[in-house]
Amino acid sequence: MEKIVAFPFRHHKELFYKEARDLLENAGYKLVCNDAGKKLSREDHLAMIQDAFAIVAGTESYDADMIRRCKNLKLVMRFGVGTDNFDLNAMKQQNVQVGVIANYNAVAEFALMLMLSVLKQLPRLDNVVRNGGWTRYEAHELSGKTIGLIGFGRIGRRLAELLQNFDVKIIAYDPYMDMDAANQRNVESVTLEDLFTHADIISLHLPSLPETYHLINADTISRMKTGSYIINTARGKLIDEIALCDALKCRKLAGAGLDVYEEEPFKPGNPLCELNNVVLTPHTSALTYETNYKASLICAKSILQVERGGKPIYPVI
Ligand code: NAD
Repeated sequence: MEKIVAFPFRHHKELFYKEARDLLENAGYKLVCNDAGKKLSREDHLAMIQDAFAIVAGTESYDADMIRRCKNLKLVMRFGVGTDNFDLNAMKQQNVQVGVIANYNAVAEFALMLMLSVLKQLPRLDNVVRNGGWTRYEAHELSGKTIGLIGFGRIGRRLAELLQNFDVKIIAYDPYMDMDAANQRNVESVTLEDLFTHADIISLHLPSLPETYHLINADTISRMKTGSYIINTARGKLIDEIALCDALKCRKLAGAGLDVYEEEPFKPGNPLCELNNVVLTPHTSALTYETNYKASLICAKSILQVERGGKPIYPVI
């Protein structure tokens, strides 16, 4: 039987590096790829994955019905971290292992950059100079601020490390807080309520789950400090964007830095585009050469480990 690795995710050509392809091909795998340059229809997606031993997945959906039809499937490798597009229960029931890529450094750096960009109004300043102007805006400093991290996993912890020399106080909320990790990074563990009340800048680093849907909404925003900021590099569904826009318009919130949205890609006319106190990026925080190179090799090595009866390098189930 042919050993197949399916690549339904449409950016594999740019993101999955040759060394990793060679590892798989030298081990006898046939690589079946989405070369259409766009998201596949459900039918084409299914046709591509149904005989695969392993799938290298992007953000496309994998529901129970699809998984049931993949009789040879042993591993789904997410070329990223979030698994909210997977039916993990169906995968577990069918003994399909799931692995992710720990791309925490790239995202943590990006969250830090969004904080600084919003505080310094970087896109506005760039725009002024490009358009022949010399208008200057009074900016803000990170120094002296209280940073509230919601979710203190890999990315939250790395961001806390990066923030060490910025003269900030770091507080964090995580229902499964690793107190050793917090203490090592001078992070104070607080309740969610205290975090909303005390943080000057809130940065989201938790998964999108039914219970975290619209965690940031009109009610929780009303409990935040007036003039505070929100940074979201996690998932769009964590924020009620209508409530966020309202709060940004009336300056209850001073600004936001967003890499993820309720609907991606953006629909034309998204009201966030009308606001000059937001910095918007297209779900790109993990997209670095360093991460993709490592991610490709982690995917390939995980596939080979699972073939030998082992586990993926960063297993989810
Ligand atoms: P992680 O699993 O290491 O950490 C997530 C943390 O969130 C865990 O410590 C968990 O206990 C905590 N958590 C769970 N439920 C919570 C709740 N209700 N309130 C607060 N905390 C809660 O994940 P990570 O690698 O740090 O990634 C964090 C988020 O970033 C994920 O949502 C992931 O999808 C997203 N992400 C986005 C990009 C991007 O390109 N923008 C890239 C990578 C990851």
